[in-house]
Amino acid sequence: MSANYSFSPVSLPYAKDALAPVISAETIAFHYGKHLQAYINNLNAALPGSGFEGKSLEEIVKEAKGGLFNNAGQVLNHTLYFTQFKAAGNPGAPAGALAEAIVRDFGGFDAFKQEFEKKGAGLFGSGWVWLASDEDGKLVITQEQNAGNPVTRGLKPLLTFDVWEHAYYLDYQNRRPAHLSALWEIIDWEVISKRYGK
Ligand code: MN
Repeated sequence: MSANYSFSPVSLPYAKDALAPVISAETIAFHYGKHLQAYINNLNAALPGSGFEGKSLEEIVKEAKGGLFNNAGQVLNHTLYFTQFKAAGNPGAPAGALAEAIVRDFGGFDAFKQEFEKKGAGLFGSGWVWLASDEDGKLVITQEQNAGNPVTRGLKPLLTFDVWEHAYYLDYQNRRPAHLSALWEIIDWEVISKRYGK
């Protein structure tokens, strides 16, 4: 018998209603409870016999194609997405080396936020906008279609906004830019700094 390799949803580091009104408990119930679970079920169903059994999510995303890439990508993306938030009501800002790199590479925190929102709002169809770093710690913003993740470009993913309609439609309907500009209120910058690792 082969080992039973399977993935499960990441635990949320906050209560399901803690992100409201930026992300409602109802959106968490569908986005985390239904959409992410479906990607996990599909990934687990596709793993046996694929040659990727026992590999990490990042390894699968870097090498797999087709449905396996799509489902592993969405599991990796949502894992990073759902663990980057903290309870609403106490907005933070980057500190330390990350804050310095944002000033160096984008001209300032406000300029960075503006560019990030613009790239998220301007991404046609479904996908993700990312803050990522290269091996020298230089920061870049990338737009990724569908299940894309900057690890496929050799970059380290740090922060992401999900621009699939399922991420915001219950709370914001068609108003994607309004949703993106509200997300800053719940970003946990300590998590992003740890991912940056500088
Ligand atoms: Mn999503």
